[in-house]
Amino acid sequence: MRLSRYFLPILKEAPSDAQIVSHQLMLRAGMIKQEAAGIYAWLPLGLRVLRKIETIVREEQVKAGAVELLMPTLQLADLWRESGRYDAYGPEMLRITDRHERELLYGPTNEEMITDIFRGFVKSYKSLPLNLFHIQWKFRDERRPRFGVMRGREFLMKDAYSFDIDEASARIAYKRMFAAYLNTFARLGLKAVPMRADTGPIGGDLSHEFIVLAETGESEVFCDRKLVEMAAPGHNLSVEQLEGVFNERTALYAATEEMHDASQFEAQTAEGDRLSARGIEVGHIFYFGTKYSAAMKANVQGPDGKDAPVHMGSYGVGVSRLLGAIIEASHDAGGIIWPDAVAPFDVVVINLRASDEAVSAACEEAVAKLEAAGKDVLYDDTDERPGGKFATADLIGVPWQLTVGPKGLADGVVELKRRATGEKQSLSLDAALELLT
Ligand code: ATP
Ligand code: MG
Ligand code: MG
Ligand code: MG
Repeated sequence: MRLSRYFLPILKEAPSDAQIVSHQLMLRAGMIKQEAAGIYAWLPLGLRVLRKIETIVREEQVKAGAVELLMPTLQLADLWRESGRYDAYGPEMLRITDRHERELLYGPTNEEMITDIFRGFVKSYKSLPLNLFHIQWKFRDERRPRFGVMRGREFLMKDAYSFDIDEASARIAYKRMFAAYLNTFARLGLKAVPMRADTGPIGGDLSHEFIVLAETGESEVFCDRKLVEMAAPGHNLSVEQLEGVFNERTALYAATEEMHDASQFEAQTAEGDRLSARGIEVGHIFYFGTKYSAAMKANVQGPDGKDAPVHMGSYGVGVSRLLGAIIEASHDAGGIIWPDAVAPFDVVVINLRASDEAVSAACEEAVAKLEAAGKDVLYDDTDERPGGKFATADLIGVPWQLTVGPKGLADGVVELKRRATGEKQSLSLDAALELLT
C-alpha cells in the first residue's frame, strides 16, 4: 500500500475530549472518527486492526469447536417478551418501531434469538453438544459512552452460545470456552486474567470476566499475581486437561469489585502475591442453565425419550474494545506499539528521498519482495521530511520500519528498526529482507 494513495488522516494533536491514551492514539493515528456519541466510523488503518483481531477471535472459536453463523442486528421485541427481558433491560436497549408499527430493537446481545434458532431445528440430544457463534455489531445505549471504542454504543462483539443435554456437559462446554479465551487473548499479545464475576442481567451461577490490567480500566480488580504470567493452555485438550486448566486458575484468587471478598483474598493469597489493580473487561463467559430454554420452550429429547429444556451458556468477547485494550497495554511516548499478530501492516518501508530514482527503485524492490513473501507492507513514498515520516511510523505502531535513503544506499545499507524496542541496525537490503521474511 502506497501511503501517497492511502487514506491515513493523521492528527497533530489529540482532541481535548479524548481522556485516555488509547482513545487519543486511535484518533491521532487516523483509525476512527466519531460520528455520534459512542458511534464510530472505522477508517482504513483502524479497520485493518479490527479485522485482524476478529480473525484471531474467529480462528480460536473454530478451533474450540464452535460453529459460525450470522444473526441480524435488528430483533423483534416479542422474542424478548418471551424471556421477560424486554422490560427488564431498561434504557440501554435501543427500541425501534417500523412502518407497520412492529416493535424492534437493535440487539445488545443474542440469547433470545439464538434460543429461537435452536428450538426451530434441534429436537434431540443426538445433535448435542452444539456451540454457535457470530461476530456482529451490537448496540447499547450506554449512559456514558466514553474512552472511544472502549465504551461505545455501537460495538463489535463475538458472542457464542453453547447447548448441552445436562449441567455436567454444559460445564465442560464452559471450560472449553474458558481455555479458548486464554488462547485467544495470548495470541492477541495480551495478558488477560479470568476473574470470578457477577452474572448480572444475563443470570446464572457460573461466570468469569477476562480482565486486562491497565491503569485506565473501569473496574477495580483483585487477584493473585501468579495468574498474570500463566501460559496459554493450547489446543485439542481432553476433558481432563480442560478441568486441569480451569482448576489450576480458579484455585487462585481473582475477583472483580462486585465479587470481591477482602478476608477471603487475604486468607487465600500470600501478601507478596496480592495484586489490586484496575482492569478492562475484554471477555465475559456465563453458564446459565435453562434460564432461556425453559422460558422459551427450547426442549430436547434425552436418551430416556423425555423432553427437557436444553442447558446453555454464553460467551462474549469485545472485539472492538480490544483495540483500546491492546493500545492501553502497549504504547510509548511515540505512539502505538502493535503486537505482531494484530498490526495493521507488518512493515513500513520508508523512502527518505522519493525524488531519487535509485532510492525509489530499491524501495519498490523491497516492497515487491516483502509482499511476495505474504507481508502486509505500507510504503511511505510521500515527499514529507524524514522527521515527519519517522514520527508517523512510530505513531501508527507498525512492528518493523525499513528505511532507505540516498546516503545509506550509496554505502550499500538500509536501516531496520524494531518499533517495540527502538533497536536499529544497518545492513544490506538483502539481509534486511532475509530477516523480515
Ligand atoms: P461493561 O461492564 O464494560 O459494561 P458488560 O459486562 O456490560 O461490559 P457483557 O454483556 O459481558 O458486557 O458483553 C461482553 C463483552 O462485550 C464485554 O466483556 C466487553 O468486552 C464488550 N462490551 C460490552 N459493552 C461494551 C461497550 N459499550 N463498548 C465496547 N465493548 C463492550
Ligand atoms: Mg455494560
Ligand atoms: Mg461488566
Ligand atoms: Mg460483562
